[in-house]
Amino acid sequence: MTKKPWNAKTILVHEGSRRSQYGEMSEAIFLTQGFVYPSAEAAEARFIQAGEDEFIYARYGNPTTRMFEERIAALEGTEDAFATASGMAAVSGALMAMLRAGDHVVSSRALFGSCLYVLEEVLTRYGVKVTFVDGADLDQWRSAVVPGTKAVFFESMSNPALELVDIRAVSEIAHAAGALVVVDNVFATPIFSRAVDQGADIIVYSTTKHIDGQGRALGGVICGTRDFIRKVAEPYMKHTGGAMSPFTAWIMLNGMVTLDLRCRAMADSALKVARALEGDPRLSSVIFPGLASHPQHDLAMAQMGSGGTLVAFEVTGGKEAAFKFCNALEIIKISNNLGDAKSIVTHPTTTTHQRLPQALKEALGITPGLLRLSVGLEDADDLIFDLQSALSAI
Ligand SMILES: *Cc1c(COP(=O)(O)O)cnc(C)c1O
Repeated sequence: MTKKPWNAKTILVHEGSRRSQYGEMSEAIFLTQGFVYPSAEAAEARFIQAGEDEFIYARYGNPTTRMFEERIAALEGTEDAFATASGMAAVSGALMAMLRAGDHVVSSRALFGSCLYVLEEVLTRYGVKVTFVDGADLDQWRSAVVPGTKAVFFESMSNPALELVDIRAVSEIAHAAGALVVVDNVFATPIFSRAVDQGADIIVYSTTKHIDGQGRALGGVICGTRDFIRKVAEPYMKHTGGAMSPFTAWIMLNGMVTLDLRCRAMADSALKVARALEGDPRLSSVIFPGLASHPQHDLAMAQMGSGGTLVAFEVTGGKEAAFKFCNALEIIKISNNLGDAKSIVTHPTTTTHQRLPQALKEALGITPGLLRLSVGLEDADDLIFDLQSALSAI
């Protein structure tokens, strides 16, 4: 009988596990930089071609990081993955590994600050031409992507304004021109998004977010075809030093065990919170893709089947009111991570997006009153009470 392919929840618990001769139940942390070869001949052979389960140096790979790579690739539905030291190592590594001077990239404009830096400052420094578009406007993608464009890059759900990019439609435009589709899928999470089924070629995550989910470690991963991961991404990553540490991989493996449960619980609470806030006269807007009022609600449901775990809203009264609100919160912490078990509020214009030019802030809807809430695992009613009490304090 052929093996039945595992469903996501089984993959999250078991996929990629490798056991030593001791048969340990929990995945072991192979906290080793290197590996001992049984002979000089074996060392030579391994440097020519390392076989399955053969490792050379932890910057190239390690049994614990390999377990994590296999688990996330299986979940994502890609052939392979390469684990990186942070989300930015994954974003910059995926792009730097494939691009060279003279190449053309089209990117959505609504990017995480560090992603914007890589596209705007780093790639252009090496002669890569980058065209920025409004990610939700397919006509802009159509006119910017030209035959010979090497890649398109976008965050499938933008930070902090929670605007979606239609992965299927943009992939069609990109593929017609022969371009690879690179998606930063952090906000959508690997639970709600099947980016690869929708046409994405390369999917990157900051595993610092939902995959760890408990604010412990930085990490990232590049998912793609075996050819891309092993022939393009791996050589670049292993020689430039952005590999994930085995200890971090062990944290991420354990994060994955509960990833489905956590993302769904957080998304359920995010919907409750968004519904409770919607229509509150103290707010000028509530942005949540799971609400029918979100302009891309239908796309969110088709692409993710969920509104996700983040809610954005704008308090009336600008920065002063926003600060009063944040300072009055009791359960919800002021910080800038997301996807954490602990609910977190962020004031993007003074923190994560502080350095953006004013005109870009306005174009992206990052106003002085805008707040981003990452909904955690606390009781939803407690969170709503905390939010409403803080609104009363403004
Ligand atoms: C956090 C984040 C990153 C960067 O990840 P790090 O792990 O902090 O390096 C990249 N893209 C998005 C959308 C993020 O939210």
